Amino acid sequence: MSRVYNFSAGPAVLPEEVLKECAEEMMDYKGCGMSVMEMSHRSKVYDEIIKEAEKDLRDLMNIPDNYKVIFVQGGASLVFAGVPMNLMKKGKAAYIITGQWAKKAAQEAEKYGEVVKVASSADKTFSYIPDCSDLDIPDDVDYVYICENNTIYGTKFWELPNTKGHELVADVSSCFLSEPVDVSKYGVIYGGVQKNVGPSGVQIIIVREDLIADGPALKCTPTMMDWKIQSDNESLYNTPPCYGIYVCGKVFKWIKKMGGLEAMKKHNEQKAKILYDFLDSSKMFKGTVEKKDRSLMNVPFITGNEELDKKFVAESKAAGFENLKGHRSVGGMRASIYNAMPIEGVEKLVAFMKKFEEENS
Ligand SMILES: *Cc1c(COP(=O)(O)O)cnc(C)c1O
Repeated sequence: MSRVYNFSAGPAVLPEEVLKECAEEMMDYKGCGMSVMEMSHRSKVYDEIIKEAEKDLRDLMNIPDNYKVIFVQGGASLVFAGVPMNLMKKGKAAYIITGQWAKKAAQEAEKYGEVVKVASSADKTFSYIPDCSDLDIPDDVDYVYICENNTIYGTKFWELPNTKGHELVADVSSCFLSEPVDVSKYGVIYGGVQKNVGPSGVQIIIVREDLIADGPALKCTPTMMDWKIQSDNESLYNTPPCYGIYVCGKVFKWIKKMGGLEAMKKHNEQKAKILYDFLDSSKMFKGTVEKKDRSLMNVPFITGNEELDKKFVAESKAAGFENLKGHRSVGGMRASIYNAMPIEGVEKLVAFMKKFEEENS
């Protein structure tokens, strides 16, 4: 068996230890004679799996008791609709547009209410995070929305926007559990898990209790997207994405074992530094975003020559580095270096880039 270094933006690399455990438990989960894929979501065994996953996530993120955690299906893209449906009580929200995912979330929200775009970095192909310290936010918005880490463009909010007292809603799909977080600063934190936490098919929504106490803002909200119902039923209103939640639970335990989110942050900073330092010293490769806004998770880069980019992607693939091609909307290359990417993966990639630069200049 040989495994590649997988730099995919998502679904993405998972810890080998977790995959091995899943394999070991595939035929017979802890002596119950069946796989987690085969068991009832109402069984005692499964109940322990989902409860323990929630508990470990609460420990890791230090989630205050007045926040609910729900595991649901549908992709982060379904939450784009779930946010306005549950929260737009006054029918208006402010969106900060820092890339495609924020744009799509805003487009979805426009179906349900008024969207005010209070800031954007579209003028420079989303290569920076706009100054959000003093935005012109209407008084009567229900929330301010951000995409905290922009997976496609490789930028990250290192400082949260000044929401002027409004609730902050953040899509953290691609930076989930990559660093410590103060949950109390948000009304809602949510993300798809397939970037940094588990297999596709699970969304985690962390929402402050009072925001959903009276049920969704829109009466037409499908039951499945009603966060109060999902929360009242402890994510077991219907069949949840059982196996995915089980894998997420294992990843939570792996992160705990690695030292928690502080340790994750150090590990991620160390990896990102290796790559960014090289990009800053290289004559051939260049990072594409403003230094102060660089993501620790997604690192886009270019040579400035499309033919050379293509050659690099092909040769890196042949050398065992997978999925380095940039997003179709940006071109160039992108290395996603999530929690589970080992340091050696980044070191070897940089060594390969150095060699490529020597051979091609
Ligand atoms: C991948 C991604 C999405 C879309 O996720 P789906 O689960 O495919 O809908 C949304 N937001 C961010 C930040 C992402 O990285």
